[in-house]
Amino acid sequence: MKHNIVTFIAITIFALSGIVFWETGFVEYVLSAIALLYLALTAYGSAKIQSNYFLTSINYGKRKSVALTFDDGPDPETTPRILATLREKNIKATFFVIGKKAAAYPGLVQQIQDEGHIVGNHSFTHHYLIGFFSTQKLKNDLAHCNEVIRDIIGKTPVFFRPPFGVTNPRYAGVLSQLQLNSIGWSLRSMDTRAKNKYQIINNVITRLKARDIILLHDNLRPTADALDDLIEHCLQKGIKIVPLSDLIQKEPYDHN
Ligand SMILES: [Zn+2]
Repeated sequence: MKHNIVTFIAITIFALSGIVFWETGFVEYVLSAIALLYLALTAYGSAKIQSNYFLTSINYGKRKSVALTFDDGPDPETTPRILATLREKNIKATFFVIGKKAAAYPGLVQQIQDEGHIVGNHSFTHHYLIGFFSTQKLKNDLAHCNEVIRDIIGKTPVFFRPPFGVTNPRYAGVLSQLQLNSIGWSLRSMDTRAKNKYQIINNVITRLKARDIILLHDNLRPTADALDDLIEHCLQKGIKIVPLSDLIQKEPYDHN
């Protein structure tokens, strides 16, 4: 909750500057500069999940291995391909599913679970304006995703990945009420912008390091194309790929 500290400091400096510079001709410039800096910091904190500005996310692992995470599925075409590669290589990953897609393809969510992978919450709607949802609307959306997953696999996830990696003060409250852990990432594959598998492979292998949580998307064809090579590269480098729960040493489901 760096946001609360920054807000406190900003208000204090704003008030003090108002007093100190009141008699000068440039008080409005000083106050505007402080206000702009505060807004810039808030925008940065909301867009950059690793800054832990509004809430503390888990962005890297505790063990010297890496974990694969897939967002935005399940997808009827690409998720089965990704599952097949993972099965062949005997690798366990985490799928942050979108609730409405999970409800549309419950068989895929069941398959993810049956094949030993972890299912996480990535909101029900994945609405592009979810960052502007009221606290109640946000809570309903995240709870709805958990209900869909529980109805399919019989377990309630505690791992949550914020859509677009955007956080704000409302998330902090909602996540603690729903007992969800915010899971960020340390390595972005940039697969949402990649035109082919080589761009993804290049983005990952040039920056890969121990403890990384790798962000991928199981609804994209280039990602499904790249996965085999990505796993091979890690294995050849001697980097172990472990389930997210092992990497961050937290249980993935609620035991109540
Ligand atoms: Zn997403």
